[in-house]
Parts: sequence; structure tokens; C-alpha cells
Amino acid sequence: MTTSGASAPIRASDALLKKLAKIGLHSEADLLVHLPLRYEDETQITPVARSFAGEPVQVEVVVHGNEIQFRPRRQMIVRAADDSGEITLRFFSFYPNQQAMLSEGSRIRAFGEVRGGFFGAEMVHPRFRKIGDDEPLPSELTPVYPTTAGLANSALQKLIGKALAAGDLSETLPDDLRHRLKLPGLARSLHFLHRPPPGTDLDTLHARNHPAWRRVKFDEVLAQQLSLRRAYLARREQGAPVLRARDDLGARLLDSLPFGLTGAQARAMAEIGADLAQAYPMQRLLQGDVGAGKTIVAALAACQAISAGWQAAFMAPTEILAEQHYLKLKDWLEPLGVHVAWLSGSLKTKAKREQLAAMAAEAQLVIGTHALIQDGVDFAKLGLAIVDEQHRFGVAQRLALRKKGSNPHQLMMSATPIPRTLAMSYYADLDVTVLDELPPGRTPIKTRLVADNRREDVVGFVKKHVEEGRQAYWVCPLIEESEALQLQTAQDTYEQLSADLPALRIGLVHGRLKADEKQAVMAAFAAGEIDVLVATTVIEVGVDVPNASLMVIEHAERFGLSQLHQLRGRVGRGQYESSCVLIYAGPLGEIARQRLKIIFENTDGFEIARQDLQLRGPGEFVGARQSGVPLLRYADLEMDADLIDMAREVAEEMLTAHPDLAEKHLQRWLGSREELLKS
Ligand code: ADP
Ligand code: MG
Repeated sequence: MTTSGASAPIRASDALLKKLAKIGLHSEADLLVHLPLRYEDETQITPVARSFAGEPVQVEVVVHGNEIQFRPRRQMIVRAADDSGEITLRFFSFYPNQQAMLSEGSRIRAFGEVRGGFFGAEMVHPRFRKIGDDEPLPSELTPVYPTTAGLANSALQKLIGKALAAGDLSETLPDDLRHRLKLPGLARSLHFLHRPPPGTDLDTLHARNHPAWRRVKFDEVLAQQLSLRRAYLARREQGAPVLRARDDLGARLLDSLPFGLTGAQARAMAEIGADLAQAYPMQRLLQGDVGAGKTIVAALAACQAISAGWQAAFMAPTEILAEQHYLKLKDWLEPLGVHVAWLSGSLKTKAKREQLAAMAAEAQLVIGTHALIQDGVDFAKLGLAIVDEQHRFGVAQRLALRKKGSNPHQLMMSATPIPRTLAMSYYADLDVTVLDELPPGRTPIKTRLVADNRREDVVGFVKKHVEEGRQAYWVCPLIEESEALQLQTAQDTYEQLSADLPALRIGLVHGRLKADEKQAVMAAFAAGEIDVLVATTVIEVGVDVPNASLMVIEHAERFGLSQLHQLRGRVGRGQYESSCVLIYAGPLGEIARQRLKIIFENTDGFEIARQDLQLRGPGEFVGARQSGVPLLRYADLEMDADLIDMAREVAEEMLTAHPDLAEKHLQRWLGSREELLKS
């Protein structure tokens, strides 16, 4: 037991330390929780003659020949034998010192899979060790650690062995709690996982459902929960403007709308309204499926800030979306006497100067793109920062918007639903409001899957649809590898459709258009002057044209599920029967087939996201958050959902009843990484 605490440094050469740092090992504590990927049984020697093909075994042999061959490629061939027979060891890459170790007469133990080669038994790239006569066999299974180039498993084994013997393995879970959770002790669990005794069932170990594994996974999840919960509580210590409505602006906005709020919208507004009136900054995520009506909730929140005498900012990820919000909110709020400003990168110098001056003075609501967070953009009195499609922004950008005021409240919105287990772990530092109800009168969207050899039928369908007075989107195939190709495809699709449908007014919008060109096309489409809008995924988020009730997506198999769901959500917004046609090109890979099946069978965004998570794993969801939230290495969100539930409760309890154990636990698992999260 050391006295230097959980994050005692590792004692090793600089070169070794550098390699360890590469895989995130900075302290003794890091080593202790660097757990084996798998184990190999080197406690036994198998005679060469009795090894079976395909089974990993250890042989002990004496080298009697070693040569470098150059055909068919450079390789080292080592011939060796024990009493029972001969074996060839083959290496395609090797260092001179390895060649020296494998010189004639050397006694070695080699571990690997035996296969039958042309010249009898053979091992390709076995792990091997030169040994002396009568060297005893290890009495434990050999752990195989995750590593990096040039860092030998044996080196890690040695360092971790030292850490196990001398490092800090003290318990951070109070005994009563540990018994209640039926978890084994930490020291015992770590010893067991690093050095399982011979005879341990390798299958349970590898499946990671041994109690020792559960303990470690629990500790990992607990660290994550503690860290998020602490960040959440720390935020409550900061002051924020108390935004209490001082007039009836919100009520007047509601009165002016042609619709009433849904129950879900009213509940969301009540929660947000209460948060804004607190003296610490709100950090709330408003989740609602595509079309759930998040914009009006954001507008009402802005009204509360404005009516309390503060400014609200509303940031959206694309020019098209930001402008749509601007036009809509201006339309709603200017008649009520609210000064609405607009800032985007495409504004001309003079207009921009005017808007900046307004923001620094009397403007009450400012809507814009990333332009809002540039240097030189100043708010007079920012009290509420609203971020639409928050998953499109990085942490740094959201932080930059907050920094434009002093601790303003923050409302984030997203139509990408986060599955429950993910919300409980990676998003545990946010308050979440869910709009679980769509506005009434929505027509369900009919989804059809059509093979691309029936494209003509689809064109005919579009024609009929337009003749009935409706409009349509036609989304071009996604070409992720090349923007130039993507552009070319959009252009080609536009020309092809113009030729196929000469009587129709076809428009084209893509990412490379100048902002004002884009706006002109979108405005023409919204005004019904364009029948069919050919588009790249620039229309993916937020665009709202109720008369457009047909969505065609070409090469649907190339899109991700949430993208398809977002795109499909562009229709079904008016009173007309809506449909979505997914054109696919075969042959379909297994994942693509599954995705199309899911989108065909489901319309509920949450269900789609849940199935998506199962299909892809949490990596991409979490990646989208781009944050410093500690990633889980061992626990699996689906398989270990019960551990996450437990850890959430325990985190709360530990922070209040055992703050020093909580601190120690965080140190052990996150160490210096904790700093990242505080920003
Ligand atoms: P999203 O949640 O996808 O951002 P929007 O805020 O764009 O959804 O709303 C989608 C459409 O539904 C808009 O045309 C909006 O005016 C309309 N809408 C919002 N709330 C209601 C409601 N309570 N009743 C009827 N229509 C509504
Ligand atoms: Mg929206």
C-alpha cells in the first residue's frame, strides 16, 4: 500500500512512459483498471504431436534451424522440435533481436494456434519466450492486455503486477452499500481479473459476466455518474439571471396563434418556465420527434426572458434553418412589439453592422447561425441561449454561446431521440424534457420501398401528386466520399427530372449554393412556385413546408436511420395524406437491409433510435455529443443497463453521505480526465 494516493505515478523509463501514455495509462491507478482483453492458458505444455489444429496451445521446443526466406515474401522460418515431433514457426515481421533469440539450440516456449502446414505442424507468429532449463510453468492464466505498437504484453504484465502488489486497491464503496448491491470487493475483483487462478472457466471470464467483472463495470459506471452528477450540482452553485415574466407577452403570443399547445408542449413550457425563474442556470434538453413542435416552446421561453427584461439568442446549425426560424419568429413576435435581430455569415457588411449594433443595444431576440458565436459579436444582456438541433454543434460552440452572456440559461433542442440507457449515462448532467405527443391532425406518413429499376413508376407518382396540387421533395443519393461527386449527382438528378417532367417546375438546392441563392429557392418552394425540389441533405433538418407531402429518397440504403427519419419528417406536416418513397439499389448488405426494414416498419423516432442503437452500438450517438463525458470501456449500455440504474442511485447517495470516498473513486477512474469535464 502506497501513501501517495490513488494517482501515484508509474515508475518506468521515459520511452516506456510515452508508450503507456499513448493508451491512456498515466498513473498506477490507470494500470490497475487496465483490464485484460482475454486470457491464454500457459500453465500447461502440450507435446507437438498432440496439438490439434485450430486450438491455441503452448509448446516447449528446442530450435534446430533458423533461416530467412524471400519467397513468396520475406519471412523467418524457425524449425524446432520436442520429444514428440517437429514444428515450424513462421514470422513475417521480426526484429534482429528476435532472430538472435531463436538461434540454434535455444529452448523456447511458443504460444499460438497450430495448423497443418506443407511440412507438418506449423505456428504463424506465435508469442514466444526464450527460457532456461527447468524453468517452472506459470501457475496462473496469462492476461492479454490491450496495447499499442512496441509495447509488449509482458511489459504491461510486469507493470500491472507491481501495481497489484504495491498500489492502492482500497475500497471506495462503503461495506453496507456493497453488500446491498451484492458486489465483491474491489481488491479481490482486480486480483482475480488480472491473475485468474488456474482452472477458472475462461468462458465466463471472456463473456464478462463473472461477479468480478460486474464489480469493475459497476465502478466504471459509478465514476461516470459521479462525475456528471457533480458537474450538475456545481452548476447550481453558479448564479444566473432570474427570468420571471413581468408582462403578458407569452400569453399574447399564444393568443395570436391559430392553434393551442398540445399537452406535452404545455408541460414542457411549465418545466422550462420554472427553470428560468431559478437563480442558477438551466441546462435543459428539449427532445421531441421531428414535427413535435419544439419551435413554439422555444419562442415562449424567449418571451419569458424578454418579458423579464433580458435578451434571448436562438442559434441553428444551417443558414436555411436559421432563416426559417427568423422569418417565423419575426412573424410571430414583431406584431407584439418585440425587436428581432438576425445574424448570419452571409449578411452584407452594412446590414451586419446594423444587426450587431442592435444586438449590443435594444434587440430582444437574436436569431442566427454560428455567426452568433464569432468574436466581436456582443449581446447587451443575454439571459437565455437556445440551441436548435444541438447534436449538430460541438460542446465548444455551445459553450461559446453561453459565454456571450454571464451564465445565461440554456435550452437545447433535438429531434434525435436518445435511447433511455444512453440518456441515463451520457446525458445524466442535463435535465431532459420530452415532447411525447405530436400536434393533432397529423396525417400518418405512408412509407414505400421501391427498387431502383422502378424509378419510372416513381416519376409517374410524383407527376400525379403535383397534378393534385401538392409539392414534393426529391432527395439525391448521398455520396459521402466526394463533395464534387455529390454536387454532380444533384445536378444530374435535377436535369434528369426536368427532362422526365417537362410540365413541372423543378428546383434545385444544395450545399454549395450561396446563402441568398439557397434562400431564394427555399422561399420559392415555400410559396408554391416550385413543384418538385431536388435537394441534397441540406434540407435534412427543420424545414417546414406543409403543402409538400411527398418525399422521395434515392439510394435510401446509403443513409443512416436518423437521417432517413429526419428526411421523412419533412412531410406529413399539413392536412394532406403524405408519403415517403425510398428507392434502393440492390444488392443490399445486411445492415442496409435492417435499416430499411426498421424505417419501413416504424414511424416513432424513439423506437427507431432504440433499434438504431442496437444495430450500431452507442459510439456514434455519443460521438455526436462531442463532449468530454467519460466513455465507458467495460460496461455495455444495453447489457449492463441494471448497473447504470444502480449507479445512478448510488452516486447521489455517495456524494451526500460519503463525499471523500466519491472523490477517491473519481480519482481512481478518471484521474486527470476529470478536469476536462469541469469546463
Ligand atoms: P419541430 O419539433 O420538428 O421543430 P416545429 O416546431 O417545426 O417542429 O413544428 C412543426 C409544425 O407543427 C409547424 O408547422 C408548427 O407551426 C406546427 N405546430 C406546432 N405546435 C402545434 C400545435 N400545438 N398544434 C398544431 N400545430 C402545431
Ligand atoms: Mg425544429
